[in-house]
Amino acid sequence: MAPICVGEKRRGEHLKLLKGHWSQREDELRKIDLCERISIDIALPLPAKDRGFAETCEGVDLFWEIFECKRCGRCCRTPGAGLVLEDGDFRRISEFLGSKKRLRSLCRRGEDGTWILKQPCPFYDSKDGCRIYEVRPLTCRLYPLHPPLKEMPFNLAVDSFCPAAREIAKKTLGWWAICEKHWAEIMGIRADR
Ligand code: SF4
Ligand code: SF4
Repeated sequence: MAPICVGEKRRGEHLKLLKGHWSQREDELRKIDLCERISIDIALPLPAKDRGFAETCEGVDLFWEIFECKRCGRCCRTPGAGLVLEDGDFRRISEFLGSKKRLRSLCRRGEDGTWILKQPCPFYDSKDGCRIYEVRPLTCRLYPLHPPLKEMPFNLAVDSFCPAAREIAKKTLGWWAICEKHWAEIMGIRADR
Protein backbone atom coordinates (compact mmCIF):
# COMPACT_ATOMS: atom_id res chain seq x y z
CA MET A 1 0.00 0.00 0.00
CA ALA A 2 1.53 3.30 -1.07
CA PRO A 3 1.48 6.33 1.26
CA ILE A 4 -1.13 8.03 -0.91
CA CYS A 5 -2.58 10.47 1.59
CA VAL A 6 0.33 12.94 1.47
CA GLY A 7 -0.02 13.26 -2.30
CA GLU A 8 -3.77 13.80 -2.00
CA LYS A 9 -3.25 16.54 0.57
CA ARG A 10 -0.61 18.22 -1.58
CA ARG A 11 -3.02 18.22 -4.51
CA GLY A 12 -5.77 19.82 -2.39
CA GLU A 13 -8.13 16.88 -2.82
CA HIS A 14 -9.58 17.54 0.63
CA LEU A 15 -11.40 20.61 -0.69
CA LYS A 16 -14.16 18.64 -2.37
CA LEU A 17 -14.69 16.58 0.81
CA LEU A 18 -15.09 19.50 3.17
CA LYS A 19 -18.73 20.41 2.65
CA GLY A 20 -20.01 18.49 5.67
CA HIS A 21 -17.12 19.52 7.91
CA TRP A 22 -16.45 23.16 7.26
CA SER A 23 -19.27 24.46 9.47
CA GLN A 24 -17.12 23.55 12.50
CA ARG A 25 -14.01 25.24 11.16
CA GLU A 26 -14.23 28.44 13.24
CA ASP A 27 -14.66 26.41 16.46
CA GLU A 28 -11.66 24.26 15.61
CA LEU A 29 -9.52 27.33 14.86
CA ARG A 30 -10.53 28.86 18.19
CA LYS A 31 -9.57 25.65 20.01
CA ILE A 32 -6.13 25.74 18.38
CA ASP A 33 -5.69 29.39 19.44
CA LEU A 34 -6.57 28.46 23.05
CA CYS A 35 -3.67 26.03 23.05
CA GLU A 36 -1.34 29.00 23.31
CA ARG A 37 -2.14 29.09 27.01
CA ILE A 38 -2.66 25.40 27.76
CA SER A 39 0.39 23.46 26.66
CA ILE A 40 -0.74 20.24 24.99
CA ASP A 41 0.32 18.18 22.02
CA ILE A 42 -1.76 18.66 18.89
CA ALA A 43 -2.10 15.76 16.42
CA LEU A 44 -1.62 16.73 12.78
CA PRO A 45 -3.23 15.06 9.76
CA LEU A 46 0.17 13.86 8.53
CA PRO A 47 1.43 10.29 8.87
CA ALA A 48 4.05 9.89 11.60
CA LYS A 49 5.56 6.86 9.98
CA ASP A 50 4.80 5.26 6.68
CA ARG A 51 7.95 3.19 6.39
CA GLY A 52 5.89 0.10 7.07
CA PHE A 53 4.12 0.68 3.77
CA ALA A 54 6.58 2.09 1.30
CA GLU A 55 9.89 2.93 3.00
CA THR A 56 9.21 6.65 2.92
CA CYS A 57 8.64 9.39 5.49
CA GLU A 58 6.57 11.65 3.29
CA GLY A 59 4.49 13.00 6.17
CA VAL A 60 7.58 14.16 8.07
CA ASP A 61 9.12 15.55 4.87
CA LEU A 62 6.00 17.56 4.10
CA PHE A 63 5.89 18.85 7.67
CA TRP A 64 9.38 20.35 7.35
CA GLU A 65 8.56 21.76 3.91
CA ILE A 66 5.64 23.77 5.29
CA PHE A 67 6.96 24.55 8.79
CA GLU A 68 8.14 28.16 9.14
CA CYS A 69 9.81 28.89 12.48
CA LYS A 70 8.95 32.40 13.67
CA ARG A 71 12.22 32.72 15.60
CA CYS A 72 10.28 33.81 18.69
CA GLY A 73 12.58 31.83 21.01
CA ARG A 74 9.66 30.63 23.10
CA CYS A 75 10.84 27.01 22.97
CA CYS A 76 14.28 28.04 24.27
CA ARG A 77 13.32 30.49 26.99
CA THR A 78 10.22 28.81 28.44
CA PRO A 79 11.10 27.22 31.77
CA GLY A 80 10.39 23.51 31.70
CA ALA A 81 11.43 20.23 33.26
CA GLY A 82 14.70 20.24 31.33
CA LEU A 83 16.10 19.08 28.04
CA VAL A 84 17.49 15.55 28.00
CA LEU A 85 20.82 15.27 26.21
CA GLU A 86 21.46 12.12 24.20
CA ASP A 87 25.05 10.77 24.39
CA GLY A 88 25.73 12.25 20.94
CA ASP A 89 24.35 15.65 22.05
CA PHE A 90 26.59 15.66 25.12
CA ARG A 91 29.66 14.77 23.03
CA ARG A 92 29.01 17.37 20.29
CA ILE A 93 28.19 20.21 22.67
CA SER A 94 31.08 19.56 25.07
CA GLU A 95 33.51 19.43 22.11
CA PHE A 96 32.05 22.70 20.83
CA LEU A 97 32.48 24.31 24.27
CA GLY A 98 35.89 22.71 24.72
CA SER A 99 34.92 21.49 28.17
CA LYS A 100 32.82 18.62 29.55
CA LYS A 101 33.04 20.26 32.96
CA ARG A 102 31.39 23.43 31.70
CA LEU A 103 28.55 21.52 30.08
CA ARG A 104 28.03 19.43 33.23
CA SER A 105 27.72 22.64 35.25
CA LEU A 106 24.78 23.66 33.03
CA CYS A 107 23.01 20.33 33.54
CA ARG A 108 21.48 18.25 36.26
CA ARG A 109 21.59 14.47 36.47
CA GLY A 110 18.40 12.51 35.73
CA GLU A 111 17.45 9.49 37.85
CA ASP A 112 18.71 7.19 35.09
CA GLY A 113 22.04 9.03 34.91
CA THR A 114 21.25 11.09 31.80
CA TRP A 115 22.39 14.70 31.58
CA ILE A 116 19.51 17.17 31.52
CA LEU A 117 20.13 20.72 30.38
CA LYS A 118 18.68 23.21 32.85
CA GLN A 119 15.93 25.48 31.61
CA PRO A 120 15.39 28.19 30.52
CA CYS A 121 18.16 27.08 28.22
CA PRO A 122 21.55 28.56 29.20
CA PHE A 123 22.54 28.73 25.51
CA TYR A 124 19.72 31.07 24.50
CA ASP A 125 20.63 34.66 23.81
CA SER A 126 17.73 37.09 23.36
CA LYS A 127 19.63 38.95 20.62
CA ASP A 128 21.49 36.20 18.77
CA GLY A 129 19.29 33.18 19.49
CA CYS A 130 20.94 29.79 20.01
CA ARG A 131 24.67 30.12 20.74
CA ILE A 132 25.31 26.45 19.93
CA TYR A 133 23.01 26.23 16.90
CA GLU A 134 25.32 24.02 14.77
CA VAL A 135 25.57 21.43 17.54
CA ARG A 136 22.18 21.86 19.22
CA PRO A 137 20.55 18.77 20.78
CA LEU A 138 18.44 16.37 18.74
CA THR A 139 15.30 17.45 20.62
CA CYS A 140 15.85 21.04 19.43
CA ARG A 141 16.40 19.87 15.85
CA LEU A 142 13.08 18.03 15.91
CA TYR A 143 11.10 20.67 17.79
CA PRO A 144 8.11 21.29 17.67
CA LEU A 145 7.57 17.64 16.66
CA HIS A 146 6.73 15.46 19.65
CA PRO A 147 6.31 11.69 19.90
CA PRO A 148 2.85 10.78 18.54
CA LEU A 149 -0.05 10.81 20.98
CA LYS A 150 -1.04 7.43 22.45
CA GLU A 151 -4.57 7.87 21.10
CA MET A 152 -3.29 8.72 17.60
CA PRO A 153 -0.02 6.82 17.19
CA PHE A 154 0.03 7.12 13.39
CA ASN A 155 -0.12 10.91 13.23
CA LEU A 156 2.54 13.52 13.81
CA ALA A 157 2.11 15.58 16.98
CA VAL A 158 3.38 19.08 17.75
CA ASP A 159 3.81 21.16 20.89
CA SER A 160 0.98 23.69 21.09
CA PHE A 161 3.28 26.24 22.78
CA CYS A 162 4.95 26.90 19.42
CA PRO A 163 3.15 29.56 17.35
CA ALA A 164 4.45 28.12 14.07
CA ALA A 165 3.13 24.69 15.07
CA ARG A 166 -0.30 26.18 15.75
CA GLU A 167 -0.18 27.83 12.30
CA ILE A 168 0.42 24.42 10.73
CA ALA A 169 -2.41 22.89 12.75
CA LYS A 170 -4.72 25.60 11.37
CA LYS A 171 -3.36 25.38 7.83
CA THR A 172 -3.82 21.61 7.67
CA LEU A 173 -7.18 21.40 9.45
CA GLY A 174 -9.05 20.49 6.26
CA TRP A 175 -6.62 17.64 5.63
CA TRP A 176 -8.42 15.56 8.28
CA ALA A 177 -11.13 15.11 5.63
CA ILE A 178 -8.67 12.97 3.60
CA CYS A 179 -7.82 10.94 6.74
CA GLU A 180 -11.52 10.40 7.44
CA LYS A 181 -12.06 9.26 3.86
CA HIS A 182 -9.35 6.63 4.26
CA TRP A 183 -10.60 5.50 7.68
CA ALA A 184 -14.08 5.18 6.16
CA GLU A 185 -12.67 3.11 3.29
CA ILE A 186 -10.68 0.90 5.65
CA MET A 187 -13.81 0.28 7.71
CA GLY A 188 -15.86 -0.36 4.60
CA ILE A 189 -18.05 2.70 5.00
CA ARG A 190 -18.69 4.92 2.01
CA ALA A 191 -17.07 8.32 2.63
CA ASP A 192 -19.84 10.32 0.99
CA ARG A 193 -22.65 8.93 3.16
S1 SF4 B 1 8.56 28.29 19.60
FE1 SF4 B 1 8.30 27.54 17.51
S2 SF4 B 1 8.29 29.40 16.25
FE2 SF4 B 1 9.18 29.96 18.23
S3 SF4 B 1 11.40 29.69 17.94
FE3 SF4 B 1 10.59 27.78 18.80
S4 SF4 B 1 10.20 26.50 16.98
FE4 SF4 B 1 10.37 28.61 16.25
S1 SF4 C 1 20.16 24.48 22.73
FE1 SF4 C 1 19.71 26.17 21.38
S2 SF4 C 1 17.88 25.52 20.24
FE2 SF4 C 1 18.06 24.20 22.04
S3 SF4 C 1 16.81 25.14 23.65
FE3 SF4 C 1 18.93 25.90 23.89
S4 SF4 C 1 19.02 27.81 22.74
FE4 SF4 C 1 17.19 26.69 22.05
